[in-house]
Amino acid sequence: MTNIPAYVALTPTGPLVPGKIRRREVGPKDVRIKIRWAGICHSDIHTVKGDWGPQHYPLTVGHEIAGYVAEVGSAVKKFRVDEKVGVGCLVNSCKECANCRAGLEQYCTNGAVGTYGSLDRDGTITQGGYSTEIVVNEDFVLHVPDSLPFERVAPLLCAGITTYSPLKHWSAGPGVRVAVVGLGGLGHMAVQIANALGAEVTVLSQSLRKKDDGLKLGASAYYATSDPATFTDLKESFDLIINTVSAPIDLDAFLRLLAVNGTLVSVGAPAEPMSLRVGSLEAMRRSYAGSSIGGIAETQEMLDFCAQAGIAPIVEIIAADRVNEAWERVLASDVRFRFVIDIDSLKK
Ligand code: NAP
Ligand code: ZN
Repeated sequence: MTNIPAYVALTPTGPLVPGKIRRREVGPKDVRIKIRWAGICHSDIHTVKGDWGPQHYPLTVGHEIAGYVAEVGSAVKKFRVDEKVGVGCLVNSCKECANCRAGLEQYCTNGAVGTYGSLDRDGTITQGGYSTEIVVNEDFVLHVPDSLPFERVAPLLCAGITTYSPLKHWSAGPGVRVAVVGLGGLGHMAVQIANALGAEVTVLSQSLRKKDDGLKLGASAYYATSDPATFTDLKESFDLIINTVSAPIDLDAFLRLLAVNGTLVSVGAPAEPMSLRVGSLEAMRRSYAGSSIGGIAETQEMLDFCAQAGIAPIVEIIAADRVNEAWERVLASDVRFRFVIDIDSLKK
């Protein structure tokens, strides 16, 4: 076990503070990664606050990790020292159930191990990327294409895959009218990926404040959901809506924007339950669905796709001691479009 520097939550409500966490020694199949960049996902905040259930504290969050391989175990085949790598939301799964075998490790029936706050196979609680190092089984480590700007890679490991996976599953592409609700970390990746897949993209944001950015990212239209006219003007105009909002939304109002056979997919994960009228589904044979991150092979596919399409997150890089301020800004929808912690600042 090694003690390493990290930013740590001690309670659900207090600020994150500098501290130390323990990392296991490198096993035969493990890769020790020197973390260089760590993205701030809204899920980090939901988790620490206990929005999805009680947690074990102290807890270090962060599941958008980009860094360099520092050491490989004796049986590691896929990685070499100094290679650029990524780690996302998963660090283990059973690898045996039907879902794991189908590359859907995020839906492992025996329980996938999340990068933080999860019970690991060795009985410890996993600790995330707001730290200088992590040790991960090589099957859960991703290769980072050289053409991606390294300081912008980390958010792809959650925001990128969480939007890529449903866009692919629901066949976003030429002739498909996609709306993205919420232009935050996930939303701004959904717009870029849907556009790169050839779909026609509309942003539905609370206001028109980020309209110029949304159009530059690849949307062809941009509407404010605070304007009631949006919901009449856009009636039955989309085939697929990706909801990335971190708070409850009026599902019926958004369902009415779907054309016949359309699907509304929630990836946003508010603490509170949401209700809907079944009539909103029945009226146009619509579907309401959810989606969780993506499997390991699909995450690699997404990284390669983004490299090839020349797309990457828009990031604001911060020193580690600004993490609490960044969390406040995420909660206030004041982020363009992802905060990334410069982990070198944590070592000082
Ligand atoms: P984020 O950067 O904070 O973006 C969320 C966006 O939602 C905001 O930028 C804002 O966009 C909009 N929004 C926020 N509060 C709102 C409200 N009260 N009413 C209407 N719109 C509101 O968060 P994120 O990191 O993208 O994550 C978004 C959600 O996805 C979180 O709940 C997160 O936990 C969840 N998530 C789920 C998965 C999964 O696997 N399913 C993975 C990662 C994250 P505008 O300013 O444009 O309105
Ligand atoms: Zn996330």
